Amino acid sequence: MATDGPVEHAPADGAAAEFVDVVALARARQVPVAPPPPGWRQRSIAALRSLALLELLGGLMLTLRKMFARKITVHYPEEKTPQSPRFRGLHALRRYPNGEERCIACKLCEAVCPAMAIHIESEVREDGTRRTTRYDIDMVKCIFCGMCEEACPVDAIVETHVLEYHGEKRGDLYYTKEMLLANGERHEAAIAQAREQDAPYR
Ligand code: SF4
Ligand code: SF4
Repeated sequence: MATDGPVEHAPADGAAAEFVDVVALARARQVPVAPPPPGWRQRSIAALRSLALLELLGGLMLTLRKMFARKITVHYPEEKTPQSPRFRGLHALRRYPNGEERCIACKLCEAVCPAMAIHIESEVREDGTRRTTRYDIDMVKCIFCGMCEEACPVDAIVETHVLEYHGEKRGDLYYTKEMLLANGERHEAAIAQAREQDAPYR
């Protein structure tokens, strides 16, 4: 039955007393132990090191070594680092050599896009083929994961090596189908070369 007054504990027997000792020991171990103060020998060595400016000389030696070491800084944009064939830059829609759009409006890229950055509308043509009437990518949403490219069964949507582009307002980075097709036409040679290099690993 519950009581309102103070709870009286029974005196600790042997096992309980041993438990209390273990807890006290564990608590005692968590208390940080202050290091002993440095003796006169350590203080003298520290003073001599300080007077001799050893740390300063060590820093200057490091600077001197680095002055003659091989430089690894890249002076971008005049110099550029190599890019992988799998580099994921600005998107492009490709055409076949006869000028026909590759995209068959299957919408797999739209479905797989984790950022929901792709918007597609489609229609069936008179010849029975299906093509997009609208294909937009909002680059502000895009996280350049490459999943649209991986999902596409006809290599229509790809990510190019282009990384130097910008927008000054949100609408500038909303790429329409015409803009994406224009990207594809502009960079088709580089896209095809990257695909060829990566083909053995796909
Ligand atoms: S790269 Fe990723 S986030 Fe960007 S459009 Fe493709 S699937 Fe969506
Ligand atoms: S770009 Fe590829 S995955 Fe996307 S709708 Fe067109 S064919 Fe399908």
